[in-house]
Amino acid sequence: MQALVLEKKGELSLRDIDLPLEVGPDDVKIAIHTVGVCGSDVHYYTHGAIGSFVVREPMVLGHEAAGVVTAVGANVKNLKVGDRVCMEPGVPNMNSRATKLGIYNVDPDVRFWATPPIHGVLTPEVVHPAAFTYKLPGNVSFAEGAMVEPFAVGLQAATRARITPGDVGVVIGCGPIGIMTALAALAGGCSRVYISDLSAPKLAIAGQYPGVHPVNITERPLAEVVSEETEGWGADVVFEASGSPRAYEGIFDIVRPGGTLVLIGMPVETTKFDVAAAIIKEARIETVFRYANNFDRAVNLIASGKVDLKPLVSETFDFARSIEAFDRAAKGLPTDVKLQIVMPG
Ligand SMILES: [Zn+2]
Repeated sequence: MQALVLEKKGELSLRDIDLPLEVGPDDVKIAIHTVGVCGSDVHYYTHGAIGSFVVREPMVLGHEAAGVVTAVGANVKNLKVGDRVCMEPGVPNMNSRATKLGIYNVDPDVRFWATPPIHGVLTPEVVHPAAFTYKLPGNVSFAEGAMVEPFAVGLQAATRARITPGDVGVVIGCGPIGIMTALAALAGGCSRVYISDLSAPKLAIAGQYPGVHPVNITERPLAEVVSEETEGWGADVVFEASGSPRAYEGIFDIVRPGGTLVLIGMPVETTKFDVAAAIIKEARIETVFRYANNFDRAVNLIASGKVDLKPLVSETFDFARSIEAFDRAAKGLPTDVKLQIVMPG
């Protein structure tokens, strides 16, 4: 079967590869329609590794996917052939202690698409557990379905924040996950969200959304803006979505006393922050690793019209142009939020 294969760092090819397509009793087979290009896919391409995950043998890329069910296993009740679906790319050990606790995203045995050595889904067909496959309502497009995965990260952040209606939020970093987090925070009850970055084009895209207020930190310090907008009190919830160690300098200046800091962006190096500043405000610190139990919520919010992710799809490439899509993504153009790849019909 054809697939977009990362042969090794810096080398992609569109070629045939053997992938298992046997449908187990609890599985469904899916004809892939749309796959989003994620920063992690691009990082494996450009660096060959993320932390301890190292690409040691050829790996199919792609984990943000939507498609159509083409076969169902004998035990599957929730899906049928022809259903339009999106898929949760991480499958835990269903008997693990983490899964029993409902925190299957941190199961040490989780198998996650396009994370070495597990193949991704930039290929025409895939087999996946029905329990991790979600039906798309008629008014949710395949493009939106393929955005459910990154949006679920935002929802995980909003959930971990335990937002109270009317809260003021701040998101540091206006990349795709930062924007998803801002939208999730609004959907989760924030009255308004300030989002900061150095890049004016990125901020302009985020600023299209009512309730999202861009802050260009090349013009004014974020702490100054937050102080002014909250009468010196600070934000109820601050989401760190840049992954930059520099974001931690003075970060507790923007959290209100008793407020919450949610860590999403993963810094490459060991990062320090001011513990005393956190303690003085009795700030609560939460962390986010992917998501658990948020795919269905993401689909529901998109279907309801409360969250519109369509403006975030910057360009769509045919599968045959997959390598071009990755080379474009690797450039990291500030006007690109999400690039997607569509399989031949
Ligand atoms: Zn992703």
